[in-house]
Amino acid sequence: MDDLFMNAAERASLYLNGLNSRSVAPRPEALRRLPELGGPLPENGEDPVQVLALLDEIGSPATTASAGGRYFGFVIGGSLPAALASNWLAGAWDQDAGMVVASPATAAIEEISLGWLRDVLRLPAGSGAGFVTGATMANFTCLAAARHGVYRKLGWDVEGRGLYGAPPLTVVVGEEVHVSLLKALAMLGLGRERVVRVPVDGQGRMRPEALPRLDETTILCLQAGNVNTGAFDPARELCAIARESDAWVHVDGAFGLWAAASPQRAHLADGVAEADSIATDAHKWLNVPYDSGIAFCRSPENLRAAMSTTAAYLIQEEEQREPSQYTPELSRRARGVEIWAALRSLGRTGLAELIERCCRHAERFADGLRQAGYSVLNEVVLNQVLVSFGDEIATRRVIAAVQQDGTCWCGGTVWQGHTAMRISVSSWATTKEDVDKSLAAILSVAKM
Ligand SMILES: *Cc1c(COP(=O)(O)O)cnc(C)c1O
Repeated sequence: MDDLFMNAAERASLYLNGLNSRSVAPRPEALRRLPELGGPLPENGEDPVQVLALLDEIGSPATTASAGGRYFGFVIGGSLPAALASNWLAGAWDQDAGMVVASPATAAIEEISLGWLRDVLRLPAGSGAGFVTGATMANFTCLAAARHGVYRKLGWDVEGRGLYGAPPLTVVVGEEVHVSLLKALAMLGLGRERVVRVPVDGQGRMRPEALPRLDETTILCLQAGNVNTGAFDPARELCAIARESDAWVHVDGAFGLWAAASPQRAHLADGVAEADSIATDAHKWLNVPYDSGIAFCRSPENLRAAMSTTAAYLIQEEEQREPSQYTPELSRRARGVEIWAALRSLGRTGLAELIERCCRHAERFADGLRQAGYSVLNEVVLNQVLVSFGDEIATRRVIAAVQQDGTCWCGGTVWQGHTAMRISVSSWATTKEDVDKSLAAILSVAKM
């Protein structure tokens, strides 16, 4: 066993150390070898050391080097060393983090993490929360709490009776709503298409003057961090309007919420803490391993009512926070442990510096691209840069060439009718040198 685990750690270290000198996208030769992992299921088991060796030989070169410093696709963060190492240790623990009685240790660690998260993200001290797989499930969990909260006011037991014969709710979203939030609405029976869409401005921010009339049957969904531009809906103003109308406010803050942890960027998230529920990711900007998201709810009772389970064998320790009463999952891994390690290894100032550094790198990209004569389509307020290299055909050619070149990886998008390359700086591992090397590669393929 010792050999196997030391071997795994050694292979992982070699993998991470090699990221800087390989293509960010996997080479076609590496992808072509993946079928070697398949074939018929072996009749007899193989030595774990051999199993690991095969996985490393074939699997490692075929991965995308998103754990390195030059991956700028989607909004994909790296893994902080402390977070990754604690993930290995917690994997060895193999705790079922859903129940205090099954794992008092992880229940305690996750509560510490929650306290620190509320602190650094500037959320109300009394809010409830659950550790889920990502922002999609965090949106789902928060919106289930919203559904409960609104129906409770209307005197309808939605968990008991379902939506059959229930009075209708109105869900209001921005024109730039993230697809995962619509999926959450679909899963909750609230309807992907049965939403009122509010027009947005040129950065994708909801326009408050275009808001429909809200009332106590409304769930207003805001966004902190547009996935293309990084822009924030004006939460303070919108939350005030919603409060007067007794509407529920939910915020999708998958990556943008982390701006609150940086003194220089916190103003962007101004007012977000006023919301009734907030979804965020830890695997994006906190840089913990997949998969990790958090659903926050101002009133823990609403979250608990939406997520609670009861069964004779599920003994409730009433004085303690029972983790499974705040998440869709019952059994699950202890995601809060990596969050604890990430926050402990960074500290308040380290986290602020991680967020700020990514934003500075994004500005450096934008400056370099503008100086070379290309148009940056967004106000670079956070970690997102949208750049056009001319028309759609020219921009698509550059994106493909950048990916093929392998120095860095950037994806494409269409922003308000314009095709753009999208650069998202979301990793602790990205250095100024990585930015300069990537910029040089982008400009060189763009000129060809
Ligand atoms: C990434 C993202 C999501 C979905 O998060 P997952 O972790 O992929 O489930 C939702 N909303 C926004 C704004 C995002 O950026």
